[in-house]
Amino acid sequence: MRTAPPSISPIAWAGLAVGAGILSLLVGLFAGPWGALAAVALAAVAVAALAWRSAARWRARRGALAAPFPEPWRVVLRQWSDHYNRLPDDLRARFEDDLRIFLAEKPITGVGVEVIDELRLLVAASAVTLSLGWPAYDWEQLNEVLLYPDDFDRDYEFGVDDLSGQAHPWGTVILSVPALCQSFRDPDDAYHVGFHEFAHLLDLEQTHFDGIPLGFDDAASRRWVEVREREIPRMLRGESVLDDYGAHDPVEFLAVAVEAFFEAALALRRNHGELYELLATYFQQDPAAWDDARGLTLEPIRARPPRPKGRMARRRPRSRLSS
Ligand SMILES: [Zn+2]
Repeated sequence: MRTAPPSISPIAWAGLAVGAGILSLLVGLFAGPWGALAAVALAAVAVAALAWRSAARWRARRGALAAPFPEPWRVVLRQWSDHYNRLPDDLRARFEDDLRIFLAEKPITGVGVEVIDELRLLVAASAVTLSLGWPAYDWEQLNEVLLYPDDFDRDYEFGVDDLSGQAHPWGTVILSVPALCQSFRDPDDAYHVGFHEFAHLLDLEQTHFDGIPLGFDDAASRRWVEVREREIPRMLRGESVLDDYGAHDPVEFLAVAVEAFFEAALALRRNHGELYELLATYFQQDPAAWDDARGLTLEPIRARPPRPKGRMARRRPRSRLSS
């Protein structure tokens, strides 16, 4: 099955080529050969602009990777990122490269927050944890990350214990700084607002979320839906590693499953083997095996008690799906 999300650039190139051909043909039909020639010239300019952009991006990446990885950044990652610490050496080196590329290409803006290096690293580490197994992946659908000083509500008022993160279909991810820090501070509670919100972007098909990981072919999508239907009753009974926040919405199920995959890998593999296998194939990563290698063993199952009726999951990040 095809699993990794497709890279967008080849699609852009193919669309441009087809568009230029059709445009030239139409202009040729209606405006004669000179018109067609003008259309071809315009198309050539567009292709040249795209090529220039690709070259500029390649140069920026080369610049970002030119110097050795900053040692202070390594100290931050060792202190905060459990995933970084469990990686085999070759993947840890790739993590560092991907992190620098992410930071070079993606704006991270504070809203009432000073964006210090440590915060930028936590944002980038959230995204790179997910995409590490896909060497050419560049988070094309992500335009900007906004950091908020606190949780917020649907009117974007701070200090209300409602939302700790949000992923928008147009490519903006919002993260509450305290929730992001807490997510890294407790690496095995299957809660991570950064993984959660970036997982929503992996679900982004054109301009909407549908709960199926982008890149799954038909067979993998069917399997995903079957596994989800089996898992949801267990979540509702409080017998799952997955938080029941994901039991009522396919989109949230995917995000919650991704959190558990990276934060409770051993428990997910033991208690939800097929889901673990699907995610390991999708992400091209095997965090449970890396936890085995560093000698971690599973504690008794931490079943989640059912959420009291009428109360929102207090710590769950929620996402606006469309507006
Ligand atoms: Zn969500």
